Amino acid sequence: MYPFILERPRDVAAATRLGSADSAVYIAGGTDMMQLLTDEILHPDHLVALDGLLDARIEVTPDGTLRLGGAARMSDIADDPDVAAVFPVVAEALLLSASGQVRNMASIGGNLLQRTRCPYFRDPGVHACNKRYPGAGCAAMDGATRTLAVLGTSPHCIATSASDVAVALMALSAQVHVLGAHGERVLALDELYRLPGDTPQIETVLEPGELITSVVVPPTPAARNSSYLKVRDRVSFEFALTSAAVGLDVADGVIRAAGVAMGGVGTKPWRMPLVEEALIGRPATAQTYRDAAQHATEGAVTREGNRFKPELMKRTLVRALHVVGGRA
Ligand code: SF4
Repeated sequence: MYPFILERPRDVAAATRLGSADSAVYIAGGTDMMQLLTDEILHPDHLVALDGLLDARIEVTPDGTLRLGGAARMSDIADDPDVAAVFPVVAEALLLSASGQVRNMASIGGNLLQRTRCPYFRDPGVHACNKRYPGAGCAAMDGATRTLAVLGTSPHCIATSASDVAVALMALSAQVHVLGAHGERVLALDELYRLPGDTPQIETVLEPGELITSVVVPPTPAARNSSYLKVRDRVSFEFALTSAAVGLDVADGVIRAAGVAMGGVGTKPWRMPLVEEALIGRPATAQTYRDAAQHATEGAVTREGNRFKPELMKRTLVRALHVVGGRA
């Protein structure tokens, strides 16, 4: 591990000042950051510790809105009875993430900002990675692509977004509150993430020093009737090959509202507006689900190792729609 200075700021304002420095990174739960440091993928000069500084509360407000403090632990959110009852897709996505030990440490803010699991990005022996060394090329393009993205890719990067709960929150139109040296702002979760384009090293719209202080999820009938389905190579402690977060509001057998996002397939958590449009106003039937799922793969670009993904995406989505539509 490269040497660094550990900063322990007194409050959040001091943290954002320290975090604005060129070679500073934050550490909260540390579950991803410690791997990146010990593997020498990152070598910051300053590590800014956030423990004890950020809100860790989990609350459902009187109007039904879910509010998660940026430091709320994954395990605490997953175990919260209100989250499980009113936003089940969030609880399910968390329980299908990582391991119990990791969930006990990891914060929701850190989870949303975790780095890709692209094996070449995580291999300190690989130099050809535009995310780590801009302009160095991309070893993944002609490498092992089984776990890599088919949506939102560019000629410079095909790395998959890793977070499960980000996919669930995307389907529910969550917002993130962020704080930096110049104050607070609110972003739709979809706006937080950038596509790789020709600058894959820039993954979010956060300014230097900005951090996530809370996540807010609006209450909707579709959120209450929601679920997360994850397909992966082994049944625990594994990232998604494909996943689907689905929320449906169904009345008298007709879909009135839908929220759909997919994971394991995009360079960011991937909202599916065309699928949603194809569901709304249609009867909640197998035919509707099959028709809507055809839209999930529009724009997909595959490589040798991940040609199976578009078909698996459709099957994953149809199954998730059956689970949610069948219990409406
Ligand atoms: Fe790096 Fe992206 Fe290529 Fe992976 S896909 S090696 S993260 S540039």
